[in-house]
Amino acid sequence: MFVKLVAVLWIAGLTCVSSNSPDNDHSFGYDSGELDPLHWATEYKTCSGKYQSPIDIEEKLVTKVNLPLLRFHNIDIFPTSTNITNNGHTVVVLSNYTTPVMISGGPLTPFYRFTQFHFHWGVNDSTGSEDLINNHSFPMELHMVFTNTDYDNDTIALTKNDGLVVLASFFEVTEEDNPIYEEIVDTLNKINLPDNTAILPVGLTIRSILPESTEHYFTYKGSLTTPPCLEVVTWIDFKHPIRLSHKQIQAFRTLRSKHGPLTHNARPVQELSGRPVWYNVGGYATLNTPIDESNNGVTFGFAISNIVVLLCCIFATLSTVL
Ligand SMILES: [Zn+2]
Repeated sequence: MFVKLVAVLWIAGLTCVSSNSPDNDHSFGYDSGELDPLHWATEYKTCSGKYQSPIDIEEKLVTKVNLPLLRFHNIDIFPTSTNITNNGHTVVVLSNYTTPVMISGGPLTPFYRFTQFHFHWGVNDSTGSEDLINNHSFPMELHMVFTNTDYDNDTIALTKNDGLVVLASFFEVTEEDNPIYEEIVDTLNKINLPDNTAILPVGLTIRSILPESTEHYFTYKGSLTTPPCLEVVTWIDFKHPIRLSHKQIQAFRTLRSKHGPLTHNARPVQELSGRPVWYNVGGYATLNTPIDESNNGVTFGFAISNIVVLLCCIFATLSTVL
């Protein structure tokens, strides 16, 4: 069952997917009257795990660190093809690239390969993000999903606690439309119903959807925010928000799930359960690292990263004991 579930998860588009299969109906949702977040664990036991996402990040409680450079590889290439899908839970954008788009460095030891991105939003502009900062909710959140390249395939990665990285960006509302998102927003009316798919003729580079600054971020260990809520994710939440107009965000709220209007799709925050949350204070340049050059830097980064994380773990453990 678990393997089957994982397979379905990957075929459908990872963290925000239905696990419907021919022999059951475990379709989850966000409202009462369907399998809402408070009841996910009745169908998906792993959603009651100890280290779940999302969380509320209290800035006064985070541990400040200066991690090695977070490196981005091949983020300027345009995809050869891009599909955008309403999977009934979110909008998933899947692209093909001639060269793998990857990230490394920062708190990460191996390389992680880009898989897909998708969004979470709320019923109005005062709510919608999954992680909160100081109990503040943003109107929307972007999740860019990456898979650990140390594992032979994605199914194995989903069984490992370092299997995935999700780069999360919060959105803030501005007066002006964000031109980067025009192609996506203009296509949403073609995928109004669940399981609708459309093509994005141009697609986007990964650089274009990253926030202007990727130097400052929160990072912690958690889970997928949708069933089966597997605790396999290293979260990297960028401090710098992305701007989108009210009209552009509103377009996402017009989509439909199998149960009705998909006006919101954010899981409520979960218990921190003593987990450390780090905040990278920066100091390194970001982006624009050619893949060859980065290999040396990443080798150096491994050592520094591991030492920093180890020290933080020791500190956090001591703090708990003391
Ligand atoms: Zn997500």
